[in-house]
Amino acid sequence: MPKTKRGRVLWNMPSRGRGTCPICTSTRIKLLYPRTKTDGKAVKVCKRCAGAPQVKIDAVNG
Ligand SMILES: [Zn+2]
Repeated sequence: MPKTKRGRVLWNMPSRGRGTCPICTSTRIKLLYPRTKTDGKAVKVCKRCAGAPQVKIDAVNG
């Protein structure tokens, strides 16, 4: 299994895998942890928010 959360693979991703976390609004943080809202929409969150409760995920807009 290749490492998908560190190293050169990030350089091939849009914004190099970084962005603003919709949960904690940290900027330039790595958004590598997909979570799914109750309505089925996928949200990418940072490492800190990967284990966030589902209510936090559902509060994200868009
Ligand atoms: Zn976060």
